[in-house]
Amino acid sequence: MQDRSDIPMKTVAVLGASYGGIRAAKILAQELPKGWRLAVIDRNTHFNHLYVLPRYAILPQHAHKAFIPYTKIFRGPSAPGEEAPISRRILLLQAQVTSIASNSVTLSRSFPELGIDTPVLNFDYAIYALGSYLPAPINLWGPCTNNEDELTDCGTKGGGIEWLRKYHAVIEQAPSVLVVGGGALGIQYATDIAEVFPNKSVTLLHSRKQLLPRFDHAMHEEILSTLDSLNVKTILGDRLDLTSLQKRVDPKSGLPVYTVRTQSGQELSAGAVVTAMHWPNAEHDHDASTSTQQYRIRRSVEGHDTRQTDDASRGPESSVRGYAHSRCHVSRTRLKRRRRGREGRRRRRGP
Ligand SMILES: Cc1cc2nc3c(=O)[nH]c(=O)nc-3n(C[C@H](O)[C@H](O)[C@H](O)COP(=O)(O)OP(=O)(O)OC[C@H]3O[C@@H](n4cnc5c(N)ncnc54)[C@H](O)[C@@H]3O)c2cc1C
Repeated sequence: MQDRSDIPMKTVAVLGASYGGIRAAKILAQELPKGWRLAVIDRNTHFNHLYVLPRYAILPQHAHKAFIPYTKIFRGPSAPGEEAPISRRILLLQAQVTSIASNSVTLSRSFPELGIDTPVLNFDYAIYALGSYLPAPINLWGPCTNNEDELTDCGTKGGGIEWLRKYHAVIEQAPSVLVVGGGALGIQYATDIAEVFPNKSVTLLHSRKQLLPRFDHAMHEEILSTLDSLNVKTILGDRLDLTSLQKRVDPKSGLPVYTVRTQSGQELSAGAVVTAMHWPNAEHDHDASTSTQQYRIRRSVEGHDTRQTDDASRGPESSVRGYAHSRCHVSRTRLKRRRRGREGRRRRRGP
């Protein structure tokens, strides 16, 4: 009998395994045709449930709950007390994507144990879901404090928990906190910090006159009154001048003091500045172009069987998981059509 392990497999690569990528990977895993394998690539060992990270940065005793093992996500149903195996055609590759070409991706490491002897992985189709860049405490790969060399064990559950604890210590020791950005994230930070540390002075700076402007004005009023009741000072309709940030050390306490200016000229000082805004993830090198704040895969890449599912394809203000999910279905349908089209053409042409 022929040894099937020698038959070359076609590969669908899913780049990024967060809400967008994992959804795409799960759908593809369920209907993977014969002769195909699925390579799911992420720099993290565990799925990071981002929604809860800001809260767990303030309540770090819960931090472990934010990290879900990928292996659990891909196992099929099993009897109680047993663990169903993961299909050998699903490769979970923990590595950083360092560059992307038309039909291959370069990773930060190879996987000889899985038959991938070099860091270059060829694919027949790829789904691009590398998301967007978010500031601390969402970006567990970024600096926790202003000290870059404090980064340890990036991408692991232990490293993530440690990171959130360190971040909590920074907030805890700061006598005052300035939160920049009055979207859902900024509002959550400001209210969580004020509630857990009632003696801290908390300021929320928002560039627009209305908090959560996509919602009814009544929502703005409700949030403002909650912020008021927690003694959060709210500054609306003014922007931070990002170039104005200055740091000094208070000679009495030995703690850092940050001073920033707003575009209208107000000067604000705080022991910690928390930014609650985000940008597309464009750190790695690939054949793509940035346009305003959106990140676009050029037609030259997309045309070569790369589909984009994630936040990277949207503006930062409209980042929602639902969008990443719906793009997965579109990508999956398009991949299916392309594969069927090719296979159909091949059948018509004959071997
Ligand atoms: C606090 C918070 C609360 C939110 N609440 C909601 C909500 O209630 N409802 C909602 O719909 N949305 C919510 N969102 C938005 C939602 O989290 C995003 O829309 C979602 O994360 C987008 O998923 P994604 O897969 O596109 O990208 P991301 O979640 O950004 O994931 C990108 C993935 O790519 C990996 N990656 C990045 N670069 C590399 C690389 N070079 N190599 C390898 N891997 C890499 C990352 O490790 C990550 O796993 C919230 C966001 C935050 C921050």
